[in-house]
Amino acid sequence: MHLGKSAGLTALALGLASLDAGSAAAAPRWSLAIHGGAGVIERGSLTPEQEKAYRDGLDEALRAGAAMLDKGGTSLDAVAAAIHVLEDNPLFNAGRGAVFTAEGRNELDAAIMDGRTLKAGAVAGITRTRHPVDAARAVMDHSPHVMLAGEGADRFSREQGLEQVDPSWFRTEKRWEQLLKWRKNPQAALDPTHLYGTVGAVALDAAGNLAAATSTGGMTGKRWGRIGDSPIIGAGTYARNGECAVSATGSGEYFIRESAARQVCDRVGYLHHTLAAAAQETIDSVGAIGGDGGLIAMGPEGVPAFALNSSGMYRGQVSAASVPQTAIYADETMPTVR
Ligand code: ASP
Repeated sequence: MHLGKSAGLTALALGLASLDAGSAAAAPRWSLAIHGGAGVIERGSLTPEQEKAYRDGLDEALRAGAAMLDKGGTSLDAVAAAIHVLEDNPLFNAGRGAVFTAEGRNELDAAIMDGRTLKAGAVAGITRTRHPVDAARAVMDHSPHVMLAGEGADRFSREQGLEQVDPSWFRTEKRWEQLLKWRKNPQAALDPTHLYGTVGAVALDAAGNLAAATSTGGMTGKRWGRIGDSPIIGAGTYARNGECAVSATGSGEYFIRESAARQVCDRVGYLHHTLAAAAQETIDSVGAIGGDGGLIAMGPEGVPAFALNSSGMYRGQVSAASVPQTAIYADETMPTVR
């Protein structure tokens, strides 16, 4: 499949035609969904230019992941490719553009999981790796461990030969101003449209394997080595073939306490709920204890699910049967992938 406009539109038209005919279309050969964080994102709160910039960023990430899947690449490579784009985009709270800790540093968390083997890798509080998701992947592929943190994780990343940058690479003025605002009144609500901005991706590849990955700077003003849900396998990131792949975003403490990502898969695997129901029920359970945010999930047939209890989540989807589509506001729908 070419992702150029005309070929893509044809694919979309075909997808919609089969839906209209009410026929059960074949599952897409591959499928990818991404998010760029959830939060209070009301209609009208973004200027048209800001909205376009977010949608363009999501679109670019979708295309990078889709290109990988379309040439027969693995779901692991596709989620990493999509996240690389978002980690380099200063709009999102991952890699460049990450939020600052109370001490004015960028401490990055990331995780990746292979649904085929249940192998997983994660890093927490790393400070110099341009693409934290690659450090997570290296932990999975080249260490006997699942999670490395802090100075040791930085050293491991360097030893693995991953691209290292000066910490100033991650800095943006917008995030620095958010920190200054937070320092004046740590209790104050920050610019709510940018409160979050974690990025994540879930994918099914042509070989039928699921993968999930998440990357984040965490939360503005975090301290004491705080680690959120994103790098915790089963909380912010999880994948298991035959069930689902999940990446979450939101108030991480609550997603940890609900084992949110694993919970989605268990609802599918043990309770035989649909992916959409499992995703919504899990967000409801996170909400019930006071958490907010959202998650994206991918099922074994390549049909994604999106669930959120905040007013927006930057998100998108693409598959072998449809062009990249993006959404921001909670009530915005994207046509079904198949
Ligand atoms: N879940 C992330 C954390 O708690 C933040 C986010 O998704 O925006 O670190």
